[in-house]
Amino acid sequence: NKVQIKTPEQIEKMRKAGLVVGETLEVLRVAARPGVTLLELDAIAEDSIRSRGGVPSFKGYHGFPGSICASVDEVVVHGIPGSRVLAEGDIISIDCGAIVEGWHGDAAITVAMGSVPEKVSELMRVTEESMWHGIAAARLGGRVTDISHAIETYVDSQGDYGILEDFSGHGIGTEMHMEPSVFNYGKPGKGAKLQRGIALAVEPMLTLGGPAVTTLDDDWTVVTDDGSWAAHFEHTFALTSDGAWVLTALDGGEEMLGKLGVPWGGH
Ligand code: MG
Ligand code: MG
Repeated sequence: NKVQIKTPEQIEKMRKAGLVVGETLEVLRVAARPGVTLLELDAIAEDSIRSRGGVPSFKGYHGFPGSICASVDEVVVHGIPGSRVLAEGDIISIDCGAIVEGWHGDAAITVAMGSVPEKVSELMRVTEESMWHGIAAARLGGRVTDISHAIETYVDSQGDYGILEDFSGHGIGTEMHMEPSVFNYGKPGKGAKLQRGIALAVEPMLTLGGPAVTTLDDDWTVVTDDGSWAAHFEHTFALTSDGAWVLTALDGGEEMLGKLGVPWGGH
């Protein structure tokens, strides 16, 4: 009932915001290397967003100081970009949001600094692939937990990973966080209807250990209780009459959805 349904024209505007986010994350993917501080990445992100005509949606959101969340190693999400220097062997999750003409985009990637153990690169691969399996499960006439179930099913098929239960994906549009929540586990066939004009951010958060997390005293930084490392990937997509259009992916998700054998809703 509270789900915001977008017109095709509004989805075009969300695509603009999505591309600002997607292009900024590609800049950050290159910029994130050993020796760089999280604050430097944050400045690069803000410059990239503003130079593309966007406004960083994270900055000032409930008092958050940065334009990105920068979450290293055992930090899962909501890391505050500070003076920490990235080191060889770290992994960093970068979450980024932008507003263009009142419409939001929201996406995240996890990047390794140089070489990491295979189990860590596998964690990253499974997290990203689970996001795509979730988006691919979003079909007209389905329900939102079809996405949740597809993510969990894929993750469980790949090994022993913790799926965060305290955080979820979300509806998105004229605000960053809207109804409905999109959990990363659960039974299919429940929740909001997947209809033309719905827009959702799908964002699996996986750990190499358990799913339990704690928020630090800074009221933002979310770390795993067992110290295990975590990965986070996110895309914003909209359902059109043809299928899913991944608004924060540079190619709109055409390649990955094609590989998964589902219709693509972009153009
Ligand atoms: Mg995000
Ligand atoms: Mg999000």
